[in-house]
Amino acid sequence: MAKLVYDFSEGGRDMKDLLGGKGANLAEMTGLGLPVPPGFIISTEACRAYLATGDVPPELAAEVDEHLAALEQGMGKRLGDPVDPLLVSVRSGAKFSMPGMMDTVLNIGLNDESVQGLAKQAGSERFAWDSYRRLLQMFGRTVLGVEGFEPVLEEVKRAKGTRNDLDLDEADLREVVGRFKALVQEHTGEPFPQDPRAQMDLATRAVFDSWNGERARLYRRQERIPADLGTAVNICSMVFGNLGMDSGTGVAFTRDPGSGAQGVYGDYLQNAQGEDVVAGIRNTIPLADLEGLDKASYAELMQTMRTLEEHYRDLCDIEFTVERGKLWMLQTRVGKRTAGAAFRIATQLVDEGLISEDEALDRVTGAQLARLMFPAFGADDDATKGQTLLGRGMGASPGAAVGKVVFDSATAVAWAARGEDVVLVRRETNPDDLAGMIAAQGVLTSRGGKTSHAAVVARGMGKTCVCGAEDLEVDLEARTVTSPDGTVVSEGDVLSIDGTSGAVFLGAVPVRPSPVVQYFEGELAPEQGDDLVRAVHRLIGHADDARRLGVRANADNTEDAERARRFGAAGIGLCRTEHMFLGERRQLVEDLVLADGPDAQGAALDALLPLQREDFAGILRAMDGLPVTVRLLDPPLHEFLPDLTDLSVELAVAEATGQQVEPKRHALLDAVRRLHESNPMIGLRGVRLGLVIPGLFGMQVRALAEAAAQLRSEGLDPRAEVMVPLVGAVQELEIVREEALRILAEVGVEALVGTMIEVPRAVLTAGQIAEAADFFSFGTNDLTQMSWGFSRDDVESSFFSRYLDLGIFGVSPFESIDREGVGRLVRLAVEEGRAARPGLKVGVCGEHGGDPDSVHFFHDAGLDYVSCSPFRVPVARLEAGRAAAAARSGETG
Ligand code: PEP
Ligand code: MG
Repeated sequence: MAKLVYDFSEGGRDMKDLLGGKGANLAEMTGLGLPVPPGFIISTEACRAYLATGDVPPELAAEVDEHLAALEQGMGKRLGDPVDPLLVSVRSGAKFSMPGMMDTVLNIGLNDESVQGLAKQAGSERFAWDSYRRLLQMFGRTVLGVEGFEPVLEEVKRAKGTRNDLDLDEADLREVVGRFKALVQEHTGEPFPQDPRAQMDLATRAVFDSWNGERARLYRRQERIPADLGTAVNICSMVFGNLGMDSGTGVAFTRDPGSGAQGVYGDYLQNAQGEDVVAGIRNTIPLADLEGLDKASYAELMQTMRTLEEHYRDLCDIEFTVERGKLWMLQTRVGKRTAGAAFRIATQLVDEGLISEDEALDRVTGAQLARLMFPAFGADDDATKGQTLLGRGMGASPGAAVGKVVFDSATAVAWAARGEDVVLVRRETNPDDLAGMIAAQGVLTSRGGKTSHAAVVARGMGKTCVCGAEDLEVDLEARTVTSPDGTVVSEGDVLSIDGTSGAVFLGAVPVRPSPVVQYFEGELAPEQGDDLVRAVHRLIGHADDARRLGVRANADNTEDAERARRFGAAGIGLCRTEHMFLGERRQLVEDLVLADGPDAQGAALDALLPLQREDFAGILRAMDGLPVTVRLLDPPLHEFLPDLTDLSVELAVAEATGQQVEPKRHALLDAVRRLHESNPMIGLRGVRLGLVIPGLFGMQVRALAEAAAQLRSEGLDPRAEVMVPLVGAVQELEIVREEALRILAEVGVEALVGTMIEVPRAVLTAGQIAEAADFFSFGTNDLTQMSWGFSRDDVESSFFSRYLDLGIFGVSPFESIDREGVGRLVRLAVEEGRAARPGLKVGVCGEHGGDPDSVHFFHDAGLDYVSCSPFRVPVARLEAGRAAAAARSGETG
């Protein structure tokens, strides 16, 4: 096996796959000469081997020995030495940041002897015993799985008459240590391990194991992080923020992660270790106040932040510690930010000359743009006027959330599962609340700042969050929130929270459309909008200039077509005609099915024709001058008929009660029975319908042709295209095509006639099919279904979560294209189709057409366009631009 352990001086930021994000960035900072405490990294490869075999690779121990010896030599101390101990932290760190989802243990190396040495060296008994109790607590919980430390600590504090852990003195902490050790003995049957090296190895294994912990798995699924990456382990010499009031620990951002504004953002806690900040045990002070406490450290921190931002050319977030007036950098990474901040920062960095416009496209994502298109409350305008303001916190993650108040994660999940919108209200959140946060519309906490768990996680998920609403009293036992004026809100009452302003309202506040949507709708000119709208305008403009892929929309009514056009669609890539046969028109389909001869069938089709013509005319008008691909009827006919059971029951009841029933109902029941199929999705549908029911497709083509002719006579420029679904053999297409061309000629209209590629056989015979097709459009929904043999209607809610856990795929193949399998089919069909018919136009109209990741694939595969739902059109435009810019930089870079 290759090298498994790397010193901080050996790696760099490009080695995230192997060293994890935290390790790679610690190495990068070390290389920049920033003050990073020395240490080393056990690679993700070691973790993957451990997860695969259940044991650490045999060569790991020797490599760790070597790096530990070098660290000890550099520090002039030995791990856990009784006189002058080196202590280390053992921290998780995967390729993608998973805040708080995996384990970390600090103060490794302390035991009954080295605690004395630490006390002497530091000149503080209190500090040493506090550090020891922290080790017992963290190690006990995460490595040994022991619970119950917190209540002991609370009890000791209560006996002392305080709520602040800083009031505990050396004797109190010795007592806590004794009781913690007893707790470990009681729960594990063994004493707390005194051997420092054993502590380190056990903690390493615990970090590896935490990769597969419940929280981590849930988070990965939510964030689409592949399950097989594993985590690195960072072993870092400890520096202490809890050595007294001249020490402390903090977190900072180089810009506001909420809005993108420049300035000093962060929190600082005196005399504390890292976990105290996140745990919200004591209230932090604003980072700017550090200047008054320790001018030199503050100045060095500001300088370091400038260095980092210029080096990473992006917003960085950092964790640092001050140990007796000396600044130490514990972590940095390109920081998570809200969607709005991402757009603002990207354009700011262009204006500051730090990045190019192409790079700016790399700093924003389609998913972020989609988030900006959600509705929000009006800031201070009419929307919120007249509403009861209960209180205010910090707007930690923007958006508007309205829902019933719930006080715990399980209730949030249960209520959301029955279809209710909920707002999760907590004092503060911790990783165990993750499921509830995912289920909720928004999250409200009464404690914690913009860097608290709730804020960080919510921002990462794009979930609305207000945190630190301190004037609201959250009583988890009574399950109430009380406002300063005494208004009591109980579980189940409705609240509205504004993740931008931080306002909390009683009841449901009406939401208004996002300004970004108003901009796309053309209701708001960029110069009238705020800096966010202007940033979106600039970046989408650049994406449009850069992209090669066309973007069309899937729309089957005039209204959607009009909206799609406003949102920038260059045509309709899929107009599903089946929706036009529902509602009152079901009756006409029933007539068609029940027709007992050519005359009756003809009459039924004649009745449908003018209705279809009108449908098509509206859409062609909305897309005047742009292509409109109309797909001939696709789903199994029985979908338009009554349900077999319902109809059988209806008739049986009628018979039993002697009611009169129209004879047609009986004929209908016969038809429903006749058309019943065990596997309708691979039954009589798509092109097969057109071949079995004479005149059906012909009626649709005629309606389209007549609609186009009508528009042309009005001086418009309709561009109709006919698309045949579910073709598997060129012969099927040829028959339909011939009829379609004949009808088009009769009406005197020209139109392309093409096919969907959604059956594996169509891919395998793409060369033949291209001879009869003016264009291909991939129906990746069916192509995925038929390639995997997965029922698209069932599997996502049945066994997919197990598949995701097992790492068989990182994300549902119905959501994001399966590049290796279905993607390969796409490439094959493009290649063979174009070989047979050079210049063949190729698009995609399955759901994947609007999925950000898939858009990049379709760009690479050389498609001409993607087609997606109207609301995803801007997302697809942006992603298509990002794909082109990335390819460009790959070519030049
Ligand atoms: C597809 O199969 O991808 C497609 C676009 O058709 P439908 O979803 O209507 O089956
Ligand atoms: Mg299909």
